[in-house]
Amino acid sequence: MKTRTRSFSLGGLLLALGAVIATVPLLAAQAPAPAEVQKAVDAAYAQFKNLKEGKNADYIPALAKVDPNLFGIALVTADGKVYTAGDIKTEVSIQSISKVFTMAQVIQEQGLDSVSKRIGVDATGARFNSIIAIEGVRTVVGTGAPEMNPLVNPGAISATSMVSGATSEAVWKKIIDFHNDAAGRQLTVLQDVYKSESDTNQRNQAIGALMLAYGYIKSNWQQAVDLYTRQCSIGVNAKDLGTMAATLAFAGKNPVTGKQVIDPAKVHGVLAVMATAGLYDDSGKWLYLTGLPAKSGVGGGIIAVSPGKFGIAVVSPPLDDAGNSVRAQRAIAAISNSLGGNPYDYRPK
Ligand code: GLN
Repeated sequence: MKTRTRSFSLGGLLLALGAVIATVPLLAAQAPAPAEVQKAVDAAYAQFKNLKEGKNADYIPALAKVDPNLFGIALVTADGKVYTAGDIKTEVSIQSISKVFTMAQVIQEQGLDSVSKRIGVDATGARFNSIIAIEGVRTVVGTGAPEMNPLVNPGAISATSMVSGATSEAVWKKIIDFHNDAAGRQLTVLQDVYKSESDTNQRNQAIGALMLAYGYIKSNWQQAVDLYTRQCSIGVNAKDLGTMAATLAFAGKNPVTGKQVIDPAKVHGVLAVMATAGLYDDSGKWLYLTGLPAKSGVGGGIIAVSPGKFGIAVVSPPLDDAGNSVRAQRAIAAISNSLGGNPYDYRPK
């Protein structure tokens, strides 16, 4: 009797052990091993540390003054672990990366259709602040199929105008709180950048006025341009951006704080627009190279998302002609491709 019980428990133990052993490679296929991740991050940092290509944005005077040597990488995995290299503390202005989170906030509040119907989710094929792109699509306003998107300035200013709130301050509080939740800490506006851009943003004011004239913005276009300028001036470091990317990678839940920021059923819409238009008129090239939904900002940051695997961000101010950070693109592509981050790159064993 005793022996029988013993052999039964031994069998059970073996079964349990077998299950554990069988699960390990499955988990390993999902998430790369920590040592492998840190190795990939360090290798990209070493490879691109001395790359001097590109130039800081200077159409916003404060951006020209940012140290072009600043270079930081942060990759965040499902368990909230943050893998870093370089300077992950110095803040730059978030710039256009904020467009993702304001779009996500509108989708969260008003549903996936709100953005696709009012603004559109198609690439413009033009620069991020193109006025010709607005002229090109204005005839279809009201047909339910505008060929614009919330990640270029006209669409982003429209998206900001859609965030509900009785006063400008009430809308702002919602915008900054959403960014805070995605980053997992209290962020603040870089006042020098906000002032510098407010003093020189006549082009965005023209864009706001045109978007009102053509029906994309319903009211308060000046407030929308001001709040948009303010959201672009939020200070973030590479770690903040990596965490924000990871919030999008893990079904809208910030893996560092555990807070559910975006409804899991809506994240795919946000990622789709990032894939279509996140790197402006170079979005196709970027997707071809990495397969990753991503978003750049003229402050030098880029976030990229490998759904279910990791969120990654790099900060490095010098930009290429399209307005995308040169080193950030190179480093993210190298790291993601070495970790199997491309969701389109399925290789049966
Ligand atoms: N605030 C900037 C602008 O409106 C954002 C542009 C960007 O990051 N591409 O021009």
